[in-house]
Amino acid sequence: MTSPDRHDRQRLMPGWDQSRIAGATAVVAGVGALGNEVAKNLGLLGFGRLILCDPDTVAAHNLSRTVLFDANDLGRPKAEAAARTLARVAPETAVEARVDGLVRGVGIGELADADVVLGCLDTRWARLQLLERCTMAGVPLVDGGTHPWGGEVRLRVDPAEPCYGCTLTPAERWGSEVPASCAELGDQPLPASILSSSLVAGWMAATAARQVLGVPLPWRFLSVDIAIGDTAPVLVDRDPECPHHSAIGEPARATVSRDDTVGELLGALPPRSEPLAWAEFPPPQECYRCHGVCEPGYGYREPTIECPHCGDWLRLRRTTRIREASSGTKLAELGIAPHEVLAVRSSDGEYSWLRLG
Ligand SMILES: [Zn+2]
Ligand SMILES: [Zn+2]
Repeated sequence: MTSPDRHDRQRLMPGWDQSRIAGATAVVAGVGALGNEVAKNLGLLGFGRLILCDPDTVAAHNLSRTVLFDANDLGRPKAEAAARTLARVAPETAVEARVDGLVRGVGIGELADADVVLGCLDTRWARLQLLERCTMAGVPLVDGGTHPWGGEVRLRVDPAEPCYGCTLTPAERWGSEVPASCAELGDQPLPASILSSSLVAGWMAATAARQVLGVPLPWRFLSVDIAIGDTAPVLVDRDPECPHHSAIGEPARATVSRDDTVGELLGALPPRSEPLAWAEFPPPQECYRCHGVCEPGYGYREPTIECPHCGDWLRLRRTTRIREASSGTKLAELGIAPHEVLAVRSSDGEYSWLRLG
């Protein structure tokens, strides 16, 4: 490099290669307190591309911990507000905002294409969901969590390594399949400040940068504890019962994308194939009383709907079977993420993986 630039000083760091950082894509899952600090750090480092995913909007209590938001952002989607600030403070970074949950927001193919994924989530359920999707994709995951005076960082480079799931009991892992971790926290606000978020996010960004630079780290789990003045690696054993260790390898590639229709997807598959979505949706269904067809719309989240034909209330059925959606529906309308990898069940019951274009 001949001319000075905004990254002039970090280029001098031992082991640094700015071209690797500038060529890297990171996915940031969760753009709350931790996600703000992480995205800020990765943007300032000059990461080439960030995908920010969060379904929530900015609330007043976020503002003391979120450097990328200000009072004008109240009520705006967090991912969009963060992307807007990053465009100003990190103009060399291409930022994509996904205003959705993880499963609908970022496809497994996109995770596989990323250099590193950063988990900035606050429930066990969401954390395990991210872990599982990163495991399938085979992408390095840097997962962080905070408590009032510290937190944890967990790095998983290879699906064979011990993971967050290995630290939980089977009951905790099983219990997490329902979004009960919300119930577990209740509606009580948790104590939190920028102190823990900035400390843990600093470790997370440093870990992600080392991963991208190809400078190996000797630890996988790190405990950050302000109260005792210690930040130390923690040894975790792999639990042979833990289910979060199977990568899916290289999936078959589809010619259709999420912008194509259900009919086009089915037409590209062998007859009687059963492609499955990761998130459930309510398909068109017959009213049990008048036999008229109700179409709630695939984004409809309520458990019941009023029949437009007879006015009775129906309890809605949900499915992951894409075949049950009407054939003209775009896959994106079913909540299928960009470059998603779908499980496809063949007519003889075998499963295979299909990556959407
Ligand atoms: Zn595990
Ligand atoms: Zn009816």
